[in-house]
Amino acid sequence: MSGDTKAQIDALLSEVRRDIDISTKRRIYCNRNLRMDGIELIGWDMDYTLALYNQERLEKLSIDLTLEKLVANHGYPAEIMELSFPSNLAIRGIVLDCPSGNVFKMDHHGYVGRVFHGTRELSKEERVKQYRTDSRIRLSSDRYRWIDTLFGLPDAVMYMTMVDWIDGHVEKPDYQKLFIDIRMSIDEAHRDDTLKTAIKADMPGYVVKDPGLAEMLHKFRSSGKKQFLLTNSYWPYTQAVMEYLLDGERQAYPTWQNYFDYIIVGGSKPGFFNDQNPFYEVDINTGAASETPATELHGDRVYQGGNIHSFEEMTRVSGERVLYVGDHIYGDMIRLKKSRGWRTAMVLQELALENDCSDRYEQEIRDLEVLDRRRRNLQSEIDYEALMLKQIQRLLDNCEEALKPRLVAAKKQSRTTLDSLRNRSRAMQDEVTTLERSIERSYNPHWGAMFREGAATSRFGQQVSDYADLYTSRASNFLSYSPLRYFRAPRKAMPHEM
Ligand SMILES: [Mg+2]
Repeated sequence: MSGDTKAQIDALLSEVRRDIDISTKRRIYCNRNLRMDGIELIGWDMDYTLALYNQERLEKLSIDLTLEKLVANHGYPAEIMELSFPSNLAIRGIVLDCPSGNVFKMDHHGYVGRVFHGTRELSKEERVKQYRTDSRIRLSSDRYRWIDTLFGLPDAVMYMTMVDWIDGHVEKPDYQKLFIDIRMSIDEAHRDDTLKTAIKADMPGYVVKDPGLAEMLHKFRSSGKKQFLLTNSYWPYTQAVMEYLLDGERQAYPTWQNYFDYIIVGGSKPGFFNDQNPFYEVDINTGAASETPATELHGDRVYQGGNIHSFEEMTRVSGERVLYVGDHIYGDMIRLKKSRGWRTAMVLQELALENDCSDRYEQEIRDLEVLDRRRRNLQSEIDYEALMLKQIQRLLDNCEEALKPRLVAAKKQSRTTLDSLRNRSRAMQDEVTTLERSIERSYNPHWGAMFREGAATSRFGQQVSDYADLYTSRASNFLSYSPLRYFRAPRKAMPHEM
C-alpha cells in the first residue's frame, strides 16, 4: 500500500471515528436521507429552536400569570394560587380530552395506552371502557387538544391539577369550561405581553444561551449557504432574544442580524405556509409594520407576515434546496412536508434527557426485550398445552371404558404441565412489568418516554418520523458535522430481517 493511499484511508477512517464519538445527545438523527451540499438556504425558527428556554422556570412563570388571570377575570377563588403544579405531570405528545377531565397518550396506531383523570391514573378496566371503541380517535375533533409544543405543557399541567381541584369542590364539574378558562387566561397573558415582558426583564433566567450557536451559524455562512430567520414572535421580542443570544459573540458580526440574509417576524406559521399574506417592512425603531406590501426582500431590513410562495419567488430558492429548522410539528413541519417539499429538521429539547435515560438503562432495556420475547414464547406453549388438554377431555367424554385410565393419566400430566407453565408465565410477567415500570419512570413518572408507548412508537414519535427529515436536541448540534454532510437514514429492517 503506498503512503498516499494509506494516508487517504487513515483520513477516511478518522472521519468515521469522529462521527461515532459524538455523544448521543449531540447527534443529529436522520429519518430521510439529506445531502447538505444540496441545501442553499437554511431557515431558522426562533422560540425553542435557536432560543432554548429554561422550561421549568418558564412553565412556572406561565402558570403564575395564568392563575392571576383566572382569579382576576374568570371568577376563580384565590385559593387556586396555592395549588402545586408539578412540571413532570406533562410531556409533549399527550392529549387533553377536554369535556371528560382526562388526559391520555396514544401509540402510532391511535390506540390509547394510558389515561389520567386529573392526576389519577385510570385502571385498565376504566381505560378500556372509555377509549376502546371501534371508531378511531380523531384528534382534529374539537374535544381534543394535542400538546405538541413545549409552550403547550403549562396548559396540560394546569388542566390535570385543576381537574383534581374542581372534583373536590364542585358537584357537577364542567371540565370543558375549565379548559376554556385556562386557555383564555394563558392567551390573555400572551396577548397583553405580561409573559414576554417578564422574560425580557430576566433574559438569563429564562433563555438558555447556547455557546455553540454563533459558531454554528457562522460555519453554515462560511460554507456559502444563505440563512433566514422566520419566527412567529414580533419584532420587539425577537430583537431582545436574538440580541441576547448572538450580539457580541463573534467579531465579524457586529449585530445578530448579520448572521441572516432575510429576517421575517410575526410569520403566523402555519399560515405562512398555507395562506397568501403579504410581507410588510418593519420599522425597527418602533416595531410598526408599513402599510404597503413589500415587493422585494432586502437583507438589511426586517419583514413581518408573508407567505411561502412570495418568499420562494423573491429569494429564487425553493423546494428541496431549502431546509427549515423548527420545533413544532403542526406549526413548522406538517404543511412544509405536505405541500412545498422544503426539507425539515426538528429541534426537540427533551431529546437530550431521553438520550441520557436510554444510555443509563441500556442494559435493562435489552433485558426487557429478551424477557418479553421469552414471555411471548411461553404464552404460545400455554396456548398449545391448553388445546391438548381440551382434546384429551373430549376423547375422555366419548371413549370406551377400557381406554379411560390412560386418558385420565394423560389429562393429569397435561394439567400439571399447564399449571407449571402458567406459574412461570405469571412470574415472568411480573418481572417484565416491574422492569418496564422502572425504565418508564426514569423517563417520566406518569407518561414514560416521549417516543414510545408500551412496546410501540408513540403517536408523537410517529409524527416526528413522518414529518422531520432530521431531528436533534439543539440547533448547535449541527456544529459537530460538516456543512456538506450527507445525512443518511438507517436502513429500515423488515421483521424477517431482524
Ligand atoms: Mg418555535
